[in-house]
Amino acid sequence: MTRALYPGSFDPFTMGHLDILKRACTLFDGITIGVLANMNKQGAFTPEERREMIVDVLVQEKLEHVEVCLFSGLTTELAKEKECACILRGIRDMTDFSYETKLEAINARLEPTLQTVYMAASPSYTYISSSAIKELCAYGASIEGLVPAPIQIRIAERLIKR
Ligand code: ADP
Repeated sequence: MTRALYPGSFDPFTMGHLDILKRACTLFDGITIGVLANMNKQGAFTPEERREMIVDVLVQEKLEHVEVCLFSGLTTELAKEKECACILRGIRDMTDFSYETKLEAINARLEPTLQTVYMAASPSYTYISSSAIKELCAYGASIEGLVPAPIQIRIAERLIKR
């Protein structure tokens, strides 16, 4: 039984995140999504709101064997606690690659048996980021097709400045 940990800020969860998750579900027996509750970074959504939205998406997409939890410590500690054999990360471009490989080296130093698995973003989602979603909403632009349908209204309502 191979379980993967998919950690991130997910502020908010996008179609890019969902695409990686759905493809990873075909590879792993189970996935834990770890929503980072970063003490130093105020998000657009609280960690609990981000978790709730991901749960809504899982229900709508009928994705089984996926759990969502909040965490604030080391990713490697959560991986151990959840018995995950690997950390799953998505790569959109060389900037992601450069950042992720450094993170991998740090995690490998902390926990040498823990593997990091990268999945390349699907071509149609490489330009999507949580910050782009927030920026579009701030200017009242549509985010249709960029975030999962079940949470689109919730995201737009919160972020569109009136
Ligand atoms: P973090 O703050 O840890 O980077 P994010 O929520 O921004 O958290 O991203 C979580 C993971 O999802 C990262 O591995 C990131 O590279 C990946 N990711 C973000 N956007 C996309 C996308 N459009 N397609 C594929 N992977 C993505």
